[in-house]
Amino acid sequence: MADCIFCKIASGEIPAATVWEDDRTVAFLDINPLAEGHLLVAPKAHAERLTDLDPDAAAALFRRAPVLAAAVVAAVGAEGFNILQNNGSCAGQAVEHVHVHIIPRRPGDGLGYRWPAQPADPEALNRLREAVQRTMKAGG
Ligand code: 5GP
Ligand code: ZN
Repeated sequence: MADCIFCKIASGEIPAATVWEDDRTVAFLDINPLAEGHLLVAPKAHAERLTDLDPDAAAALFRRAPVLAAAVVAAVGAEGFNILQNNGSCAGQAVEHVHVHIIPRRPGDGLGYRWPAQPADPEALNRLREAVQRTMKAGG
């Protein structure tokens, strides 16, 4: 896509601190990191959301993510990591080219996250389970 920043990084048109690439996938350091080593992994072919990716591109992306996470966590001496993958502006997606965040974590790093969970009604869970299963069957 002509005006997509991650397409331009994938094609080499604009520079990035690329740590790994193959013909389908590219991994580069986030220019505005949440933590040292904050890495982005993206398919080279443009797709806006994870759900727009073809299965082979999705498989390639997630096949490499664990290897990249292990490498960056070791490189910065972190203890853990978060995987974050935003889809849609309501979910915090700013760059409309699918990407996975790998965010190294350390005890006491102060990053935290908001997780205002509430116990679910078991009947509501059951209705939802059926609704999701019906939708998957309808979609193949
Ligand atoms: P999102 O909010 O879309 O999930 O995350 C987009 C991420 O891309 C942000 O963390 C932002 O710092 C990063 N980013 C935006 N523009 C660039 C860029 O030109 N180069 C790099 N390396 N990262 C970028
Ligand atoms: Zn793109």
